[in-house]
Amino acid sequence: MMDTPLSLVSLLERAETYFPTKEIVSRTQKKIHRLTYRELGERTRALVNVLKNVGIKKGDRVGTFAWNHHRHLEAYFAVPAIGAVLHTINIRLSTEHLVHIINHAEDRVIFVDKELLPILEKLQDQFTTVEAFIVMMDENILPESAIKSLYAYEQLLENADRTFTFSKNMDEQDPAVLCYTSGTTGKPKGVVYSHRGLVLHSMALGLADTAAISESDVAMPVVPMFHVNAWGMPFAATWFGTKQVLPGPFPTPKVLAELIESEAVTITAGVPTIWLGLLQELEENHYNTDSLRGVLCGGAAAPKGMIHAFESKYGIPFYHAYGMTETAPLALFSRLKSYQEQLPEAERLELHAKQGIVAPCIDIRAVNEYGEIKKDGIDMGELLIRGPWIADSYYKDERSTEAFRNGWLYTGDVVTIDAEGFVKIVDRTKDVIKSGGEWISSVDLENALMAHEAIYEAAVVSVPHPKWQERPVACVVLKNKYKETVSKEDILSFLQPQFAKWWLPDEILFMDELPKTSVGKFLKAALREKVKDYMANQN
Ligand code: ADP
Repeated sequence: MMDTPLSLVSLLERAETYFPTKEIVSRTQKKIHRLTYRELGERTRALVNVLKNVGIKKGDRVGTFAWNHHRHLEAYFAVPAIGAVLHTINIRLSTEHLVHIINHAEDRVIFVDKELLPILEKLQDQFTTVEAFIVMMDENILPESAIKSLYAYEQLLENADRTFTFSKNMDEQDPAVLCYTSGTTGKPKGVVYSHRGLVLHSMALGLADTAAISESDVAMPVVPMFHVNAWGMPFAATWFGTKQVLPGPFPTPKVLAELIESEAVTITAGVPTIWLGLLQELEENHYNTDSLRGVLCGGAAAPKGMIHAFESKYGIPFYHAYGMTETAPLALFSRLKSYQEQLPEAERLELHAKQGIVAPCIDIRAVNEYGEIKKDGIDMGELLIRGPWIADSYYKDERSTEAFRNGWLYTGDVVTIDAEGFVKIVDRTKDVIKSGGEWISSVDLENALMAHEAIYEAAVVSVPHPKWQERPVACVVLKNKYKETVSKEDILSFLQPQFAKWWLPDEILFMDELPKTSVGKFLKAALREKVKDYMANQN
């Protein structure tokens, strides 16, 4: 059969050709923009010419430091279209990590949102390769700034030729995008995605048994475009001619609920903390969410209570998925099999809260010190993954040898797999609590805690223990109306019937908020420190 190359530009060309009038709705700080795929195509071609004019060549890295909006989407296609590599920079990284990844990637140009410019301004003297910054903003008058080589995006586009013929002869194995992990477990690691990997991943997002993204959808990625390409949604949605809603800077739960209602969003994606916030907003104010056919949740374990609230209270199907920066990210997707839909509610929920079965094209295994684990839903081991959109190394990083071995990615996630193939993430290897030689899953405890009606969010971490090695401590944020009335004993007696005695947390600490990572996951390392300080003050 023919071996035609898979390239990202063909995704945009298809949208321009077959869906020229379909819309991209983009919220910026000033207003809501509406542009069509025809306009997106023209503006992307103009951007390609801008990049060529500033001397960007095949293989060069071009950074973006931006929220989710149409200009970011234009960069998604323009940079790879000339064979350069789009480096999506996480805007919430620490300054130390920002300087590290920008220098490590050797970005030559950085597209930056006007409101984020002050962050880079302070660091510019530490960047070793950046030659120019292009400010993404509605106006074409540049803001006051100490940055030397600064250009206004709209002005450059205005003066650029809008015609450009995309090459049909790209090597599909060429790098297209570079994304760093969010640094939850150490210095961010770079992962390079090829055109081929991203096209195949986009196709997988369209499968009926995964996210089923299609032309008839209205897709709103809340997950940032710097967090594993907003999980690939912008690429897939463009390819399929799907209307896109890009929620822009500081998307609060109110902004999201309003966009869902006003744009009739059908599918949206984000980490659990986003959906906890949305649930609270839906509880406090009325919105019409009838258009939603699915909320896609990944990046951290979705608590059962939250899945139940979306499905039972609001009638919104909840899709739990699992992936990593290294897996582009789709690897596991949780949809019940046709014959499982008939199961009693509690069993359905139990299954639904698992991370699901492996996506087509991808292989998994799980191993522990005795070899391959038993597929009984109990035996635990580390998850290994391989497939055509799974990275085979980190970008210029010696940590590659540990994570990539014998053709597999070692995920560092501890899992069980049941007889139906449903994988459950028990914990990250670093977060699992080792008590008296046995493992306690912090994820299971958090899941149970967040099912309590008074609890807004909860995270469980280990503290060192002289006899048991480690013991669990729960950090809990109560919903406002329960702050005065719920006690530690109430929570412990709620957990008691659900767990063996030795699983119960030694302490329940009430907090005003929990520290989060740059992509909204609980920051367990910081929490462990906080708990340690608290316990030391107690003694
Ligand atoms: P970082 O490694 O910096 O957190 P990633 O976003 O790549 O950045 O995180 C991937 C990790 O997130 C996985 O290894 C896993 O521990 C966790 N994860 C992702 N999806 C889920 C999920 N649905 N349930 C539980 N954990 C998840």
